[in-house]
Amino acid sequence: MDSPFNCLIFDLDDTLYPSKTGIAQAVKKNIEDFLIEKCGFSETKASSLRVELFKTYGSTLAGLRALGYDIDADDYHGFVHGRLPYDLIKPDSQLRNLLHSIPQRKIIFTNSDMNHAIKCLKRLGLEDCFEQIICFETMNPNLPNATRPDEFPVLLKPSMDAMKIALDVANVDSRRALFFDDNIRNVGAGKVLGLRTVLVGKTGKIKEADYVLENFNNLAQVIPEIWVGQSNGGNERISRTRSELESILTTTPVGA
Ligand SMILES: [Mg+2]
Repeated sequence: MDSPFNCLIFDLDDTLYPSKTGIAQAVKKNIEDFLIEKCGFSETKASSLRVELFKTYGSTLAGLRALGYDIDADDYHGFVHGRLPYDLIKPDSQLRNLLHSIPQRKIIFTNSDMNHAIKCLKRLGLEDCFEQIICFETMNPNLPNATRPDEFPVLLKPSMDAMKIALDVANVDSRRALFFDDNIRNVGAGKVLGLRTVLVGKTGKIKEADYVLENFNNLAQVIPEIWVGQSNGGNERISRTRSELESILTTTPVGA
């Protein structure tokens, strides 16, 4: 029997490392500083606006551009991610071993920019665990060519357009892919597109998620079918064949 999955897709922030590292908190602070320093909002307005833009547009950058603010994505990411305390993210050798034990294709799918994704993966010691990184730049290739801020809407999870671009770019068969994310809306969008979904970092059941995974230490218990019929089965077959061959060679008289 083969595993039902031939591809595993992982969100990065708050999925491959926990939200309690302090990175998410620092991102929020930097976004609010951006709204104050670069856009001229007051401190009290910045905090509520960040939440509002996230809810309505999926991110502060998406919201600002939709509202007509000509914010360059690279400048924004440089400000928000450029001075994060990345040393708070520690190498995770347990997760690294786990990922290396999974023979299927593994892909990162994050709303963050490529710089941030690579820095986090390097800090985690996971930079060689993934075949591909789908990130902000992948979903928004035309943004640098926009002649006005709202010409191309910023595409991010959980928008269907963003999800479809990601699955297309990575050449994923949604019926055989397993999608890990800590965000319920993202998980819900994945479900609509036919992915098998895993809500990470939570407990309890929700209808959008096929599985709920409190943390990756439990992965083999929660989703053992990832490993079904994969390399171990293959090795067993090879060793059985070899031992059968050896027994044939030793019991068959030479020249018979
Ligand atoms: Mg996340």
